[in-house]
Amino acid sequence: MKITRCSTAVVEANYDYTYVRIWADNGQYGTGECFFAPGLSAALRDMFPLLIGKDAREVDRIARHLWRKGSGAGAVAGYLYNAVSGIEAALWDLVGKSYQVPCWQLLGGKVRDDVRIYVDCHAGDNTESWDTMLDPREPAWLKAALAGKPQHEERYEPEMYFNRARQMVAAGFDAMKFDIDSIVVLTGEELNRPLTHAEMDRMVACVKAAREGAGDAVDLAVDCHWRFSPTEAIRIARALAPCNLLWLEDPCPPENFRDVAEIRGLGIVPILTGENLNRRHGFWDLITHRGCDLVAPDVQKCAGMLEAKRIGELAEMQGIRFAPHNISSPLGTMASAHVCSTLPNFVALEFHGSDVPFWNDLIVRPDVAGPVIQKGRIPMTSAPGLGCELNEAVARQYAKPGESWFE
Ligand code: MG
Repeated sequence: MKITRCSTAVVEANYDYTYVRIWADNGQYGTGECFFAPGLSAALRDMFPLLIGKDAREVDRIARHLWRKGSGAGAVAGYLYNAVSGIEAALWDLVGKSYQVPCWQLLGGKVRDDVRIYVDCHAGDNTESWDTMLDPREPAWLKAALAGKPQHEERYEPEMYFNRARQMVAAGFDAMKFDIDSIVVLTGEELNRPLTHAEMDRMVACVKAAREGAGDAVDLAVDCHWRFSPTEAIRIARALAPCNLLWLEDPCPPENFRDVAEIRGLGIVPILTGENLNRRHGFWDLITHRGCDLVAPDVQKCAGMLEAKRIGELAEMQGIRFAPHNISSPLGTMASAHVCSTLPNFVALEFHGSDVPFWNDLIVRPDVAGPVIQKGRIPMTSAPGLGCELNEAVARQYAKPGESWFE
């Protein structure tokens, strides 16, 4: 099963969805997805010659070869792992389709038949799109989606959190996440300063409103995007404790895992972190020191599906749960779901595309009709590979200008 050809395509959605397609000499191909990064397509094009002629079935051997060949450009971490992750998933899809088995089977077999999804609700506010350096942009679909829709003049109002939570419960979700860190941006000074009483009050009011909207039977998490010092994070954790959160995410800057470990050790609220770490090695200190309650590797970034599974198993050995970060299209979400279906310590997988009007239409599943996420779950079936195909008739309409389309 020799690799004969590799190519990329990019969809400009709420983020860039970067796809990798790999063909083999048996006539089959597989498709994977990478987490966005500046210069990602160029990095992929530089990696592709290393794959030609390799046996696609030797997925781990190829992935490790890429780790080593990228050593001069980042070694143990960095955006080359976004590229490796997409290639690795494409190989699993290709191998699964060639042997007519689902990827969950290749990863050891599933321990559940559907994968629970938690929906990201931002700060309860408007639809947005971000470029590779996280600057806001307005592709044509977003302009159309926003046209004629009332925009929120006010931001971070409890009523918005309440309404958004209600809306997501009605859509069938029983787990959801809201941002609270962006509230402090209102004052124009966003990083690592003491919070004012007014800011704390507003955060608590917003999360309480989300809890009220969601109801007591729904799991509610809160994301801080690395914004606070340990002292401030402890204040926040204490203030939000009555809301019984599923987790408090990334309360402190990521450079020193001891910051979050300290908060975790207080036992006020479960702590989740890890979305920007690569490979097992990036998670090692965090997991071995029990620095968090839940790890959140991003399957499109951490080095791939098998590596995410290994990270989940390391976490399991320390009593740490697994709740992957995910901002990908439904194709990457399916890759993540295959991993989640095989891990006993899995809690919930992120869904970040509820505001992207074409999100559901980007893939087709051969044996499942209707939306990708059904009643807050992704049903796992025996369809081979990732169990889906990119719907190119739809996806191509949103192709990013200047990028190739599987050439
Ligand atoms: Mg996050």
